[in-house]
Amino acid sequence: MNNARSHALFTRASELLPGGVNSPVRAFKSVGGEPFFAQRAEGAYLYDVDGNRYVDYVGSWGPMIAGHAHPQVLDAVARTMRDGLSFGVPNALEVEMAEAITRIVPSCQMVRMVNSGTEATLSAIRVARGATGRTRIVKFEGCYHGHGDSFLVKAGSGVMTLGLPNSPGVPSALADLTLTLPYNDFDAATRLFDEVGGQIAGLIIEPIVGNANCILPRPGYLQHLRELCTKHGALLIFDEVMTGFRVALGGAQQLYGIEPDLSTFGKIIGGGMPVGAYGGRRELMSQVAPAGPIYQAGTLSGNPVAMAAGLATLELIQAPGFHADLEHRTHALCDGLEAAARAAGIAFTTTRAPAMFGLYFREGPVQTFEDAKASDAARFNRFFHAMLERGVYLAPSAFEAGFVSSAHGEAEIAQTLEAARASFALL
Ligand code: PLP
Repeated sequence: MNNARSHALFTRASELLPGGVNSPVRAFKSVGGEPFFAQRAEGAYLYDVDGNRYVDYVGSWGPMIAGHAHPQVLDAVARTMRDGLSFGVPNALEVEMAEAITRIVPSCQMVRMVNSGTEATLSAIRVARGATGRTRIVKFEGCYHGHGDSFLVKAGSGVMTLGLPNSPGVPSALADLTLTLPYNDFDAATRLFDEVGGQIAGLIIEPIVGNANCILPRPGYLQHLRELCTKHGALLIFDEVMTGFRVALGGAQQLYGIEPDLSTFGKIIGGGMPVGAYGGRRELMSQVAPAGPIYQAGTLSGNPVAMAAGLATLELIQAPGFHADLEHRTHALCDGLEAAARAAGIAFTTTRAPAMFGLYFREGPVQTFEDAKASDAARFNRFFHAMLERGVYLAPSAFEAGFVSSAHGEAEIAQTLEAARASFALL
């Protein structure tokens, strides 16, 4: 595989961008080697600057659920941008987006658009603190909620891959306000709330953890957290930046039938443009400025081009059977990978939620962060590179979920499984 142009770009980038990238996990530090540089993308495929083509299971880390460069999304963007790129005054597309989100996610009676998932989670905990008058928040080991100070405490995603359980620059006085719990441990949550429940402003969780590979909630676990929060007057915040509009049209809250107080979104609602959102009950959201005193703002928030891309994507995913079809494809992929590993005598298992999956080089089941960490990461890294060589791009870390889009058809899955059979044989 020729990588000369990517190598030259990475050499230039490394002089000018920290680690050569604008977001850490892109640097391939965890899997080793150098990243490839994208030239373009279409459907299920990424094409690099050296002309290599990859079946892409990262999908820009989640937004591309309808495949790359979908014509309807591109048309909406092109139409909208002719009228100007940003207005700094309200526009109709923001209203349409708010109507779409609140219709699809009934727990959100009001929303505020922001520019990233990080902004959404930062703002949601500000609302939780402002509305309850309490300061402490609870998060879960291995959950990643963006790079806000309060969240870089036992976080997942690149933070875990890089071995930075806390980041320098996060004041300990602030980190001290973040309490962490092991995901899927009923008793630990009960004990914590029994001890300090009255001080907790909000509990934030990835309802399906996609930043420590892909860990699903045990039956009743999210309901247990719902009950604890209600009992102790803390707000339950579902971070659905990854799961929202993906694991079901209405996200994990629809899939599991739980009503959080606040929710955060990103990725899919931007259709590939920089977007985030947070929302919740009217009585909470109407405390956000200028309706209320809790301050939050953004120069480019509700950007018309981003709203157009997001609205076009939301329209595509509301086609009848869209999510059931994605679930079917996810199972076909994961069943095929498990069968290929079994045939090669390799300890391997998968976890699946509709349209997202986790790969583990160990026997199942995987239900906790400890289980996920026990996967053989060195073996994953060899597998990652063997797959890349064969034109399949998996997330470049043993601790990131993979994503399936509606553009991943039988041909792409067949190519992936053929590459997997060859790759497992090399491990
Ligand atoms: N929350 C979750 C669950 C995420 O997966 C991410 C990013 O991957 C974020 C928040 C942060 O979003 P962003 O990278 O858009 O700031």
